[in-house]
Parts: sequence; C-alpha cells; structure tokens
Amino acid sequence: MNNKRKSTGTKYSKYILFLFIVLISFNDASAIPSERSVARNKDESRYEITIREDSPLTAHVKARLNVEDKLYMSTNCPNYDYPEGWSSFVRDLKITSQNKNLLHKYETKSKWTLESPQSDMVLVEYNVDLSFTKIKWDVGNEQAGHFDGRAVYIVSKALFIHGGEDESFQIRFDIPDTWEISVPWLETKEKNTFIAPNLEFLLENSLVFGKYSRSSVIKNGFQFEFALLGEAAESSKLFDEAFTRIVREFLDIFPKTPPSKFLVTMFYSTQDDGESFYNSNAFTLSKRLNSDGSIIWANQMAHELFHYWSSDLIKAASYEDRQWFSEGFAEYYANLTLLRTGLIDEPTFRSKSEKILGLYLNFKWRNADVTLKDAGKSKGKNRFAVYNGGWAAALALDLLIIEKTKGRKNLDDFMRKMFEKYTETSYEYEDLVATASEVAGEDISGFFRSYVDGKEAIPIEENLNKIGYKVYGVIYEAEMYLIPQKPTGLRELWLRKKPVT
Ligand SMILES: [Zn+2]
Repeated sequence: MNNKRKSTGTKYSKYILFLFIVLISFNDASAIPSERSVARNKDESRYEITIREDSPLTAHVKARLNVEDKLYMSTNCPNYDYPEGWSSFVRDLKITSQNKNLLHKYETKSKWTLESPQSDMVLVEYNVDLSFTKIKWDVGNEQAGHFDGRAVYIVSKALFIHGGEDESFQIRFDIPDTWEISVPWLETKEKNTFIAPNLEFLLENSLVFGKYSRSSVIKNGFQFEFALLGEAAESSKLFDEAFTRIVREFLDIFPKTPPSKFLVTMFYSTQDDGESFYNSNAFTLSKRLNSDGSIIWANQMAHELFHYWSSDLIKAASYEDRQWFSEGFAEYYANLTLLRTGLIDEPTFRSKSEKILGLYLNFKWRNADVTLKDAGKSKGKNRFAVYNGGWAAALALDLLIIEKTKGRKNLDDFMRKMFEKYTETSYEYEDLVATASEVAGEDISGFFRSYVDGKEAIPIEENLNKIGYKVYGVIYEAEMYLIPQKPTGLRELWLRKKPVT
C-alpha cells in the first residue's frame, strides 16, 4: 500500500516532549490550564462536544478559543462536492465574547473573520452535521466518515473550528453512558477528556464513538487501541490477536518507543483501502476477516504500522531517497513478522517471496539503469524497484549483518540503531550506509555502492540459497519458484529462532 503520510518534520519530537510534560506534571486534569498558562497569556483552548443518543449524527460543539480575528476549519475535504471544505457541515455558528455577540463574516474556504481582533478568549458554539458519514465517498469513507447505525467514525478535522494557533487543546466529550469513545489523543483523569498537544494532532486524526468493538494492547507505555465497526466487530478476536502479536514484535525491535497512543479503526466497505493519520489510521476491507486471508489484511496492517517507526519516528532528510528503505523494509518486516508469529505459514511466505522477487528481477531486467535509491523519484512507475527491490535489499542486508557479526546481530539491530540515532535529527542516505557498517562491525558500504546507489541487481538466488531455498524461474515472465531445502543454520538465525550468542 502506498504510504500516504506526508513528511513529518519535527512533529513527533514535539509530541514526545509534550507527552513527558503531561506525564510529569498533570496528575489532575483540572490543573492543566494553570500549569500551561506559563507558556502563554491566554488560557488553553478547549472544546466540549455533546452528542446525544437520539441524534448521533449531530455534534454540538462549544469551544473556548484563543483567536486573533480569524477562525478556520480544514479545507482538505476529499470530495469535489464540498469545495468550501469542512465548514460545509457546520450549522448554527454563534460567536461571543464577554457575553456579547461578535459580528463575523464568512470569507471563503472555511474561513471566518471577526469584527475586530480579540484580546480575550472567544466562545464559539456550533453544530456539525455528521450525516456525511452516510454518503459513499469515492475516495473511500476512511477519508471522511462512516456510520453503521450504532457507531460513528470521523476524521477529526470535521469537528473543529480553531483560531489557527499551534497550541495544545483540551477536548471533552459528553456522550451517553452506554457509548464508548476511541481517540488518539492523550487521556486525562477526567472522563472522556483528552489533550491534543498541537494543532496537527487535533486536526489530522480520526476517532470513533458509539457502540462498536473496542480493545487495546499496552506495552512499554505504548498504547494501541482498536475500534472495529459494524460487522467487522464480529472478527474482533481474530483482528486483536493478530495486531497484538504484530505490535509486540515491533516493540521488541524498538523497545525505546516513546510512551504514546495509536488508534486503528477498521470497517467493511466495497474496497480495500487505508488512510494514515497523525497517530491513527483507518482501514476498509472488502472481504470478511478470515485467518486464511492474513497475508492480505494482517500484512497490510503490519506494513502500515511499521511505517510508524521506519517513516515517521525515524526521520529522513530526503523523501525520495528513502523510499526503497521505507517501503521495502516495511513490507519485509510485515511478511517476516507474520511468518515468525505464525499468522501465515511457510508456504504462504514462500509464495509471497516468489511474487515479490520475481517482479523485482523482471523490473531490473527491463530497467537496468534504475537504481533503488533513485527509484523513489517516480514511485508509481518504479513500484517494483521501490517495494520489491527494497524488500530484496532488506533480505540481503539482514543476511549480510548476520554473517558479518557471526549471528550476534541482524537487521533488527540496524533498525534499532537508526531509531536511536535519527528520531531527533534526520538522516541522509550516507548516514544510513554508515549505520549499517556500524552495526555490521565493518565497512559494508560496498553493498550500497553496488545495489542501492549502483545499478547491479541484488543477487537474489545467492541470498535465497543461504536461507534454504533453491530457485527456479523465468525472468522475462516474472516467474519464480522457491523449493525448500534442508534448513540451514543461517535460516534459523534469520528467523530469529536461535537466541543471539
Ligand atoms: Zn507503505
């Protein structure tokens, strides 16, 4: 799946810092405004959102906001029918200050102007008509909202009018006691009250409320929450178990993952699709979840999830240069994690590898001049270099590190080292090469010179032989067959079955 995230800049470092501040200072949510007030003259912006059981598609929002003289809502509404943006669904807007109505004018593109600049906080009250969750959105409902009659899924930008200031926000929901709510924001001790540490966190996310299947896994302070809507809820056990196994494996690779929260939403639709947000994502699946379909749905989720570390937390200076690493390694780790955790069996893994590597060799045969490093400049056209070539590079590098360190280290150590070095500052391509050498214990830059920024094809057969597969194939037909041989010692190390010595 294409990684739809945009470049992340420093948002996570800000978030991580904020998280620690929250954890250290906010034992009581009611203390938040006074604790935060040192940072600004005004108070923290707050939202109170009321949704009633008898009208689940109307959100009544009461906000106390820091505003100059403009109010905004996101214009990023993925449907041509709503060119004005998310303000298209706002009703009965009322703006007051000191109990006086403030005259305001709607400009265009979800922007309002107040009669004069405001020195005090402004009260903004409005309804959001969530009936757009019942429409079928061409881009996929995961990009807007979904209502199944019992629960509502929405992108968070649909709810919030704001003053444009990048500050932290408190959001409180007043919902029926029988309902649940899942949000990716930070919990406070007050019921259904959350903190979004900055504007992007507030707007570029997704949430679910109502009646649905809700569960979570927590490890090392990292909380993963799952929300399954409608009939998908029937498969929650299968889904939760798969996700829990995958999350645990990834957290073992990245034990220093900062305490954080991530929300995953899933519901059935007519197409397989997915959208990644700031620290949440949402999937739609066209087929019912089944254990024999894990290679599709669990793999898709593992791939997207791995991006949280490999593309979001680990920061790259160049988007294009890193695509082979970002996509190829995410897919490699998704496939291998499914195999290692028993979510797929060996024949399924083998079949997947045959397709990936057969297409890589075929691409390389047709496009000898395209290097992995440059392939990201045209990701769609060079898909089989970016994804499949990146996968082949991950396998080759994994085996190279295992061999050079006599089994003491593997690609997990490389990923961990990248994480330790590049969550605050971003890495250049040369840093990635140097880090691989650092982990391997000797200079392995030749590998990158040949296969990543060089034009040589990665020696697939040689690498597959090392992990116990004989290879047959017809390159021009992108055909490949792996025939299992007697397991090699290297295969056991590659599968991480033997503890490192
Ligand atoms: Zn991806």
